[in-house]
Amino acid sequence: MRPGTMKSLCLLGASGSIGQSTLKLVDQHPDRFRITAMSAHTQIDALIDLCRRYRPLQACIADSSLFTALRDGLRAEGLATTPLAGSEGLQDMAADNRSDTVIAAIVGAAGVASTFSAARAGKRILLANKESIVLAGQLLMQTVAEYGAQLFPVDSEHNAIFQCLPAHGGRAGVRRLILTASGGPFLGKTRAELATITPEQACRHPKWSMGRKISVDSATLMNKGLEVIEAHHLFGMPAEAIEVVVHPQSIVHSMVDYCDGSVLAQMGEPDMRTAIAYGLSYPERIDSGVKTLDFRTLGRLEFQTPDTETFPCLSLAYTAIGRGGNAPAVLNAANEVAVMAFLEGRLPFLAIPDIVAQTLDALAWEPAEDLAVLMASDAEARRYANNRIH
Ligand code: NDP
Ligand code: MG
Repeated sequence: MRPGTMKSLCLLGASGSIGQSTLKLVDQHPDRFRITAMSAHTQIDALIDLCRRYRPLQACIADSSLFTALRDGLRAEGLATTPLAGSEGLQDMAADNRSDTVIAAIVGAAGVASTFSAARAGKRILLANKESIVLAGQLLMQTVAEYGAQLFPVDSEHNAIFQCLPAHGGRAGVRRLILTASGGPFLGKTRAELATITPEQACRHPKWSMGRKISVDSATLMNKGLEVIEAHHLFGMPAEAIEVVVHPQSIVHSMVDYCDGSVLAQMGEPDMRTAIAYGLSYPERIDSGVKTLDFRTLGRLEFQTPDTETFPCLSLAYTAIGRGGNAPAVLNAANEVAVMAFLEGRLPFLAIPDIVAQTLDALAWEPAEDLAVLMASDAEARRYANNRIH
């Protein structure tokens, strides 16, 4: 082990898809990374198993009703890991000074409080939980700056843009950010063909293996909408300068267009370990285990305009940025409720954008001045969207 290079990681959402990709990198580089804390929501056995393998100082089960099971399970394994529970537990873990890096890989607005906690503790944050920055982008960026935290985008598009922007951090000469979208599993389908889509079909992404919520978001194009909002805050660019282009091969992860006519792209296999590795090791580069691109066999790279008639969620996200204030939080909350209802068989696929649009139009506008106001909007949007679905 080289002195001073060991990073201590708090992995929020360890049992999920991003969590697992992160752990593969930890396995590959035991001399660089150590897990000091990890969390899951309800998968208690998976969490205890991970504690047995990684021996963290702390483990948190977000569903507080499972605290006793976690405590007893850790004890039965003879582990010294301190058990924690609930949102408080996640926030304490994210702020604990025994970790320097927090990987925010919880899905949904459930990740907001712990992301802010990491920011207030001045951590290096690898942000996968895009919902936090959609819900409270301006406040999150302010908090990161105020407490000297560092934010590294894990979302592959934003990670690509981060790699293509000028190293000094300025925006001079940047004309546009171009986010690529795979188009999801239903690229090229008509509305009529989407009427009977099942959750299993929606979760079968052609290029990426991901959790169920983001897989549905990719199928509706809401994922790209959330990513436009994310890019707007992360990189301080106006919505008009953020363009989405469909690129079914998912090789070009995103691009930066400069005023001199140069377009810089970041490419690679569609594997999240590349983006996570860059966030973990920045400014260095480490082996991520992802295979290199073979351009001789790659074939065609295609680019097309997104079909926002069939997939209106992308336009709804631009509407939310235009309205500002609590609108992105409302959009996000309504979407989470609608996606959950779809996954549970209570809402047809095509009704997801309808629920989001109705909620966005029904709720009163509020400024995005403090987190309490945004969380209240989130709760109200959830109530409204749930009522519409019933
Ligand atoms: P998964 O569904 O695979 O994992 C989600 C994780 O969050 C699990 O550890 C889960 O615990 C935990 N979790 C779920 N609900 C809660 C809750 N209410 N409170 C606390 N923890 C909770 O999701 P992904 O890993 O796919 O995605 C995670 C985040 O990363 C999302 O915001 C997604 O948009 C983003 N992202 C993911 C990408 C990917 O390739 N997967 C790509 C880009 C961004 P449990 O297992 O116990 O339910
Ligand atoms: Mg993405």
